[in-house]
Amino acid sequence: MRERPGASVLSRMPAYAAAHALPGQRLDGRHSKGDFAPMKLVRKPHLGIALALATLLMWTCLPAGARQNDEIRIGVLDFLGSEATVSEWSPMVRRLEASLPGHTVRLARLDHSGMRAAVAAGELDFIVTNPGHYVELEAEFGASRILTLVAGHGRSPARALGSTVLVRADRSDLRALADLRGKRVAIVGREGFGGFQLMWGALAAIGLSPDEDFAALQTVGFPMSRVLEEVANGRADAGIVRTCMLESLGEAARSFRVLAPRAEPDFPCATTTPLYPDWPLASLRHTPPALGKQVAIALLSMDAARDGLAWAVPADYQSVHELFRQLQIGPYAYLREPTLMVLAQRYWPWVAGFAVVLLGWILYTVRVEYLVQKRTAALSAALAERDRLEASARDAQEQAGHLARLSVLGELSGTLAHELNQPLATIANYANSLILRADNGRLTDAALREATGEIAAQAERASGILSRIRAFARKRTAAREAVAPAELAGEAIALSRGMMARAPDITLLDTLAPGGVIEVDRLQIQQVLLNLLKNGYDAARDLPPERQKLELTLAAAGSRLEIMVRDHGSGMDATTHSHLFEPFFTTKPDGLGLGLSICRSIAEAHGGRLAADAPADGIGTRFILTLPGLQLPSP
Ligand code: ADP
Repeated sequence: MRERPGASVLSRMPAYAAAHALPGQRLDGRHSKGDFAPMKLVRKPHLGIALALATLLMWTCLPAGARQNDEIRIGVLDFLGSEATVSEWSPMVRRLEASLPGHTVRLARLDHSGMRAAVAAGELDFIVTNPGHYVELEAEFGASRILTLVAGHGRSPARALGSTVLVRADRSDLRALADLRGKRVAIVGREGFGGFQLMWGALAAIGLSPDEDFAALQTVGFPMSRVLEEVANGRADAGIVRTCMLESLGEAARSFRVLAPRAEPDFPCATTTPLYPDWPLASLRHTPPALGKQVAIALLSMDAARDGLAWAVPADYQSVHELFRQLQIGPYAYLREPTLMVLAQRYWPWVAGFAVVLLGWILYTVRVEYLVQKRTAALSAALAERDRLEASARDAQEQAGHLARLSVLGELSGTLAHELNQPLATIANYANSLILRADNGRLTDAALREATGEIAAQAERASGILSRIRAFARKRTAAREAVAPAELAGEAIALSRGMMARAPDITLLDTLAPGGVIEVDRLQIQQVLLNLLKNGYDAARDLPPERQKLELTLAAAGSRLEIMVRDHGSGMDATTHSHLFEPFFTTKPDGLGLGLSICRSIAEAHGGRLAADAPADGIGTRFILTLPGLQLPSP
C-alpha cells in the first residue's frame, strides 16, 4: 500500500506532510530499470518538478545487486507518485550527501512487491517503509530498524499512525463502528497499513469482519482522495483512510465526520483506532554496520522545523506484530493456512495423544494377531488330538464290543451244548432207529422218509443256531438297515434263549402299528437287547420261577421307538443305579461291567438313549431303549 502519514495524496488539497518538503527542489540523477533513482539534488527550486519528471525518463540500468563503494541505495515505499515521493524524501537525501561526502545516494521508489524483490536480490542498503511492511521484511529478510521517523507537529514517533473511518457529516445513522455492519465501505487497498489494516484490527476487536459483515468492501486504489469521493457522492457509506487525512483537507473536511473518534492525548488528528509507531528506516543483512552507523548519525541530526523531516531512535514495533498476529497476516499468515508441521506444533499434545493411541492400537492388534495364531495352532493341535482320541476310542469301543460279544459267547458255550444237544440227540435217535429197523428187516419206505426228513429238519435247526451265533460273534463295522422292530426283538429273544441255561419265559408285547420300520444297525441293537435280557435273567436267576419271567415291549413315542425290557428280579439299590452305565461297574462275581456302558454308547451312536428305572409296581427293573427315526405306515 502506498501511503505515508504526513504526506498528501490530494493534489488539490493542502498537503499535511508536504509542508515538510522543500518546495522547488531540483532533482537530478539516473534511475535503474523502472524504479531506481540515483539522485543528486540541484538547488534550482523552480526547476524541481520538471527535473523530477525528467528523472523518471532518464533512469539507466544497473546490474542487480551491483553497488559502488560510494553509493548508498535506499528503497522507499512509493505511494505518492514520483514527484511527491522525491520531494518527500529529498531532505533526507540532501542530509546524507552532505554528511557523507563522496557518497551518492540512490533512491529507489518501489511498491510493496518491488521493494520485497529488491531486498531479496540484495539491491538495497536501507529501506524506508510503513510499519506493517517493515514487520514482514524483518521476518522474511532480517531487515533491522535503526531509526523511526518523526513526522513533526509534536507527534511522538511511537504514537504516530492511526486509521479513521470517515462518513458524510449528514449521516446521523452512523455513530459507532458497529453501525458499519451491512454498509458499503471504501478503501484504497487491502495492503494499506493506516488505510486498512489498522482498522481491520479495530473491527476484529469488536467482532466485525470486513469481508463477511460489510455489504461491500470497495477497493478504489490510489490516490486516497478516491475514497473520499466515493463517500461524498454516496457510492460508499463510509471510507477508511489514515489519520490526519481529514485534517489535511481544510475546508473540504467539513462535509465529513470521523466515526467513533478515540481520545488520544497530544495527538493532533482524530483517530478511530489506537496509535502505532511511525515509519522505520531499516538496514539490511548485508548493509555494512559502519555505513548504518554513519547514516543513523547523519539522519538523527535532522531537524523537523528546519528540514521538514526528522528521525529518532527506533520505536518498539511489538504492537504491529500483535496486530498482524491477531489478523493472521504478514509473518503470521501461516496461522491462517496451517501446514502439517504448524498443526503438529500447535496441537502437539493431541498429536502425541493420537500417536500414543495409534501405537497402542498397533501393539494391541499385533498382540491379538499373535494370540489368535497361537491359539489357532493350539486349537488345531487339540482338534488333531481329539480326532486321534476319538479314533482310538472308536477302536476301543469296537474292541470292547467284540470282547463283550465273546464274553457272552463264553457263557453261551455252556448252554450251546444244551441247545445243540436236542437236535443232535433227535438226529442220533432217528439214525439208530433206522439202523434197528434195517437189521430187523422192518425198514419201510414210509419209515425211511419220516426218519430222514426229521434228521434233515433237526440238522437245519442246529445249523441255524450256529450261524446266528457266528454272525453275532464276528467282528464287524456298523451298517444301518431298515428293520421291522418286531423282527429285531424276535431274533434277540431267540438268541437269548440259546444263551440261558434254563431259558425263562420271555413275552414280546408289540404295541406298534404293523408295517413300521426303523433304520438301525441290526446286530448292535440285538446286542443291546441281548444284554438287557441277560441282565434281567441274572437279576432273577436265584428267585422262584414266577419271578424269572421277562417282558419285552415295543411302543411308539411320536417318531421314536421305545423298546422296554422289564424283569421281576432283585431290582437295584441307589448306588448301583447311579453307576449303572459306568464302564467296569459290576456287582457280579464273574461280571465284566462293560455291557451297559457299551449298550448306552450304541444307543447314543444311533441318536437315541438308554435309561433304567423301577417299574410302577416296585418289582424288578425296567430298561428303556429309545431310538429316533421310527417310520410308521401312513394310516
Ligand atoms: P455285568 O453284567 O458284566 O455286571 P453290566 O454293565 O451289564 O455288566 O451290568 C452292570 C451292573 O448293573 C450289574 O453288575 C448289575 O449290578 C447291574 N444290573 C444290570 N442290569 C440289572 C438288572 N436288570 N437288575 C438289577 N441290576 C442290574
